[in-house]
Amino acid sequence: MLVEDELREGEVTVVPPPPNDAGLVFIGRIRTPWSSRSETPRQGRHDGPVCRLEIFEPWGQALQGIDHYATLDVVYWLHQSRRDLVLQRGHHASGVRGTFSLRSPLRPNPIGISSVALVGVEGNTVLVRGLDCLDGTPLIDLKPDRCNHSL
Ligand code: SAM
Repeated sequence: MLVEDELREGEVTVVPPPPNDAGLVFIGRIRTPWSSRSETPRQGRHDGPVCRLEIFEPWGQALQGIDHYATLDVVYWLHQSRRDLVLQRGHHASGVRGTFSLRSPLRPNPIGISSVALVGVEGNTVLVRGLDCLDGTPLIDLKPDRCNHSL
């Protein structure tokens, strides 16, 4: 069995510079049914399970108007990713590829982006379908898809 952080043949790491403080504030936490990377979908689908975006205070008010949109972009921090790979084996691609030619979660700044379908809003919790991240993944941002109003 492959240990999740183990290097595979041909993969190359570098010693990355120490991270700068980019000043990110996690605005919430994502609740999904998945507790291991191997069982998490590679890309979310709009017919996938309902997941919950729990927004922390003081950001709850910032949800006002979000229900006018049918789809949203969700930006999150893939917190369990290693950040030192420059060449890696993609999930399906044969051979080794550069990190920036893949949507792999293993990248210098492990930011994930998904377009999700809005299911509903319950107080400070947004219900969506279309995610592909672990339960407990930190949430960075939420943006409407301006081309897809529900009104
Ligand atoms: N949809 C996003 C994107 O394209 O930017 C993420 C795609 S990435 C291929 C999704 C995979 O990242 C999952 O299948 C899982 O293996 C891994 N993953 C999910 N949540 C993670 C987390 N919190 N930390 C590290 N890896 C994670």
